[in-house]
Amino acid sequence: MDAPSDTFDLVVLGGGTGGYTAAFRASQLGLRTALVEAGAIGGTCLHRGCIPTKVMLESADLLARMRDAATFGLRAGDVGADMIAIAARRSEIVKRLTGGLLSLVRKNHVELIHGIGRLEGPTSVRVSLDDGHEGGERLLKAVNVILATGSRPRSLPGIEPDGRVVMTSDDIVASDRVPSSLIVVGAGAVGVEFASFYRDLGTEVTLVEYLPSLVPLEDAEVGRTLERSFRRRGITVVTNARLDTASLVANEAGVTVMVDSASGGERRELHAERMLVATGRAANTSGIGLESTDVEVVAGVVKVDPLMRTHEEHVFAIGDMVGGLLLAHAAAHEGIVAVETIAGLAPQPVDYNVMPRATYCRPQIASVGRTEEELKRDGVPYVSGRFPWLGSAKAVIGGDHEGFAKILSSTATDQVLGVHLIGPHVTDLVSEGALALILAADASVLAHTVHPHPSLSEALAEAAMAVSGQSINA
Ligand SMILES: Cc1cc2nc3c(=O)[nH]c(=O)nc-3n(C[C@H](O)[C@H](O)[C@H](O)COP(=O)(O)OP(=O)(O)OC[C@H]3O[C@@H](n4cnc5c(N)ncnc54)[C@H](O)[C@@H]3O)c2cc1C
Repeated sequence: MDAPSDTFDLVVLGGGTGGYTAAFRASQLGLRTALVEAGAIGGTCLHRGCIPTKVMLESADLLARMRDAATFGLRAGDVGADMIAIAARRSEIVKRLTGGLLSLVRKNHVELIHGIGRLEGPTSVRVSLDDGHEGGERLLKAVNVILATGSRPRSLPGIEPDGRVVMTSDDIVASDRVPSSLIVVGAGAVGVEFASFYRDLGTEVTLVEYLPSLVPLEDAEVGRTLERSFRRRGITVVTNARLDTASLVANEAGVTVMVDSASGGERRELHAERMLVATGRAANTSGIGLESTDVEVVAGVVKVDPLMRTHEEHVFAIGDMVGGLLLAHAAAHEGIVAVETIAGLAPQPVDYNVMPRATYCRPQIASVGRTEEELKRDGVPYVSGRFPWLGSAKAVIGGDHEGFAKILSSTATDQVLGVHLIGPHVTDLVSEGALALILAADASVLAHTVHPHPSLSEALAEAAMAVSGQSINA
């Protein structure tokens, strides 16, 4: 018979953003909860993703502003970056936030179990303990289980990152070196963030993307604007590019690789000191005992319904391992929906269309809802309202007025269908767009919402006014 302490209402496997959010909400709802984590609580986001990268990008942003100090009437002298100090600050912030999470574990009375967990049937989790002492095992029994084991970097077939010359994002966030030159393969959010960061620190960056546009999941006009901005900053952008992985030579002298034009044009050789492979993520679905359940894995991710239920009763799955939007706030929201479903609270099903997406390169990108390309593809008549940051007093004061705010609304009903932003602080501004989408608000409601002046937020109202051709300041 199991010891009573091994019996829980809920066992969460994986203590990343999705897992710990689910565990905390479960505890708030009165469920006796265990959280099993093989590494450090906080997962990818805190240790290898959102947080370390945003610390690095914050330094790069500040450096760029300091270089522009004379524009603001300031003498900043000879500014430059100290990557060892940036890396130290990165570690310090990650440590501080990890400490914060551990105190929330205690506050919420969640039992954090350090070790590698594996399902033995739907509601049993065997944990190989990593308690810093003798190890051992615990067999946890639960009424319900939430799987939240996340994802890992995925390379291209034929490219085996060595962590030194050919790197993944995991290697970069542990590095305190600035290469003199860098090839970034993949221009999704992770690729463009690192391209932007290293360029600000003086690296010669070549950004290679197979598709015709940077940030291919974003509205095409945003991708084009980013590409122009990157080129102006001296980043070499190669789109429509097929990397000939068989030609890759990586050694102490650096990386050499051939790139073919995907549309059949010229072939060119790229050379750099280092290469970053940022070509996506693979879900962590193996080695966790799924074969002992009826959980289905389709196209590499765990299949769930919009309440995060798997095909196996009592087993839920959330976060990067289910695909959807591979973002921390998506994982957290999915965790809350899963737990509230378990608790019988009938939450709203997860709707990725109302979830914001944010990319922290310079200029920043943020969006929610559908792109122009998606609306055209689906034959949905829409109107576009666009407001350039040049028309925003606050953006001009801040000296950062590249890009635009764009609102797409239904021709028939005026309902907001998409919000697409590129420019200053847009990752903080996009939440208003998310609220508009979740409330199914009309563009005219956004236009009539009074925004403080001067503020960057005015751009959303101006773009909404532009939907009916009535922007005041553009
Ligand atoms: C470079 C980079 C930058 C990013 N920037 C952002 C950003 O700015 N904003 C954003 O929203 N998202 C960002 N993301 C994405 C974000 O990090 C992920 O979407 C998020 O971490 C997913 O959370 P998760 O809980 O699903 O998985 P994870 O955070 O990956 O956590 C999974 C956890 O499960 C544990 N685990 C796995 N298997 C087992 C097992 N068998 N037993 C016990 N524990 C196990 C792992 O150790 C890990 O801690 C970024 C990602 C990367 C790589």
